[in-house]
Amino acid sequence: MPPTDAYQRRIDYLRFSITDRCNLRCSYCMPQEGVAKLDHEYILRYEEILRLARLAVGMGISKIRLTGGEPLVRRDVLYLCENITRIPGLQSLSLTTNGVLLAEYAEGLFRAGIKRINISLDTLNPEKFEAITRRPFFQKVWEGIEAARQVGFSPIKLNCVVMRGINDDEIEDLARLTLRYPFHMRFIEFMPFQPEEQKRKFLSADEILRRVEGIAPLVPAESVNSNGPASYYRFEGAPGKIGIISPISHHFCHSCNRLRLTSDGKLRTCLFSSEETDILALLRQGALDAEIVGEMRRAIARKPERHTLDQDVLRKCISRPMVAIGG
Ligand code: SAM
Ligand code: SF4
Repeated sequence: MPPTDAYQRRIDYLRFSITDRCNLRCSYCMPQEGVAKLDHEYILRYEEILRLARLAVGMGISKIRLTGGEPLVRRDVLYLCENITRIPGLQSLSLTTNGVLLAEYAEGLFRAGIKRINISLDTLNPEKFEAITRRPFFQKVWEGIEAARQVGFSPIKLNCVVMRGINDDEIEDLARLTLRYPFHMRFIEFMPFQPEEQKRKFLSADEILRRVEGIAPLVPAESVNSNGPASYYRFEGAPGKIGIISPISHHFCHSCNRLRLTSDGKLRTCLFSSEETDILALLRQGALDAEIVGEMRRAIARKPERHTLDQDVLRKCISRPMVAIGG
């Protein structure tokens, strides 16, 4: 049985950010110069991630996702994947990637037991890709998506952060991909770091949905994971689905089942709360399994009821850049 928190939410999902490094510099995620890189010594080692994954599964966590930074830039990532998928009791291991290295890794990841993959795709225009990510790698990403399809990943979820005046003119083109491919094209509300950015670039989920409905009528589609944050729709007869994720306008805290471990071993029970539990320190002090599990359970018990992103000064809530938390 998965652990429950003080609000009777079942916590069965853990996201590991396995690195703070990235081969892109998305403007919404990190500053142009990058963020100060953590020294290797302060990053969870693979044996530590594996130990935590085993303890988490032993507590009742059944789904694990690897994210970053960019998870595929970490050396020997396939070794980690193979060993996590072997943990008895784990139902699924999934990965969120920017796709730049996916053409190289798709087959290995699939063989390692990952079947579900999320790939960021904010635009279909190579120049705009470079403007958003500050790197000229659109073609690589598209080849990565193609490789993932060839290898047999299912579902393939494509994540687009929608920003007014930047890529909102592509909502329709991105949505139309679902007419041709079995992708889940997911539009995510932009989570601003600066309050003034919110006014300029933010587009609400309702507005995004209206734009997609302008193409053709949508019908509700079943969610792959009923307590995930996306609402799903599809165009009649289309092989793919449209997902709308609205962390800001319709927060999904009431059904949040997540825990996050940052690459430097801090456990976060809410993306938007700065409260962290220092698991790395426990590991390095030689804590016993029972002590680590006890600390994780206490953190779950303190998981906040909901975030206050829509009420507070946004910047205060997000105490680290997204690249450091893992989205
Ligand atoms: N590098 C991988 C990638 O880009 O998919 C994984 C890490 S990234 C931090 C995880 C997710 O967070 C991506 O889908 C990204 O688009 C999303 N994200 C980052 N910053 C965001 C922001 N300010 N608002 C909304 N989503 C954001
Ligand atoms: Fe890197 Fe992903 Fe952040 Fe873009 S969103 S900078 S790819 S971690």
